[in-house]
Amino acid sequence: MKREKNRFLPLGKSNVPASGSGRLYSVLSPPFDNRAQLSQHRIGPPKPALTGRPGASTTSNLTSRAVSWGPVGTSTPTHSCSTTRSAAFEICRKRGFKVMAHANNPDAVKNAIRLGVHSIEHGYIMDDECIALLLEHGTWYVPTLAISHLTASQATNPFEAAWVADRGLSHALCCRAEAASDVHARWFRKALDTGVRMASGSDIRPLKEAALLEMGLWVRDGATPWQTLVAATRRGAEVCGVGAELGTVESGKLADLIVVGANPLGDITNVRRLQLVLKEGRVVSNKRHLSGAVP
Ligand SMILES: [Zn+2]
Repeated sequence: MKREKNRFLPLGKSNVPASGSGRLYSVLSPPFDNRAQLSQHRIGPPKPALTGRPGASTTSNLTSRAVSWGPVGTSTPTHSCSTTRSAAFEICRKRGFKVMAHANNPDAVKNAIRLGVHSIEHGYIMDDECIALLLEHGTWYVPTLAISHLTASQATNPFEAAWVADRGLSHALCCRAEAASDVHARWFRKALDTGVRMASGSDIRPLKEAALLEMGLWVRDGATPWQTLVAATRRGAEVCGVGAELGTVESGKLADLIVVGANPLGDITNVRRLQLVLKEGRVVSNKRHLSGAVP
């Protein structure tokens, strides 16, 4: 443990082995001090995701002053050394960084929560003890349903079908995703029904589509449109640590707003019917002259 820490601590930017592989990934850069940096500094290892392209590095759109530690475990048993994991968490604690864990099986989820992780990403397979620990520790859960739900045979609308067609997922990846889809949906619903702190997020690309597709999948798996909107706005800001300035329409917060052409509480895909986009109070896109505009 001591040797591990000594290996990492003196370095401004350190590499930590990702579990289950010989890969290394960066543990850090200086604290972020403005919103531009917040969007640029995303830390994630090159790693295989259920539907990731082989060799492609993946990142999350929910990283804020956080280290993306993953995969803490994949759908196969966790291989990372507990001493290494503890050292990595300890380093992050000392530097004031929160840790987000890409954890895909019950042991990985529990290990990460007990080490004080800020958020669990994916959680495809969990158990009742995982849910109890998430509740007890107030740990965030970001289910990333798209990873297991977006294959050609599971697409239920033109947006999903188009994303799947463009992605060109391999047969093997589709099989892995479809094998995990039902159990993923079940633990998503259990977490939702028991009151686990949850936010909408994804590590599929592009991020614009990831956010919209994920919202549709939340509703398909049993969340109400209202729960979904809150998860994608207020909760998303909170899990990123920027809830004081983003996430809700309130006096004193940044005016990042969209106006849509139909009620998303009636059909969540109406969030695509953009009429107006305001960024920090300035209109950056105006499609009000286009009836029923979609992006
Ligand atoms: Zn991930």
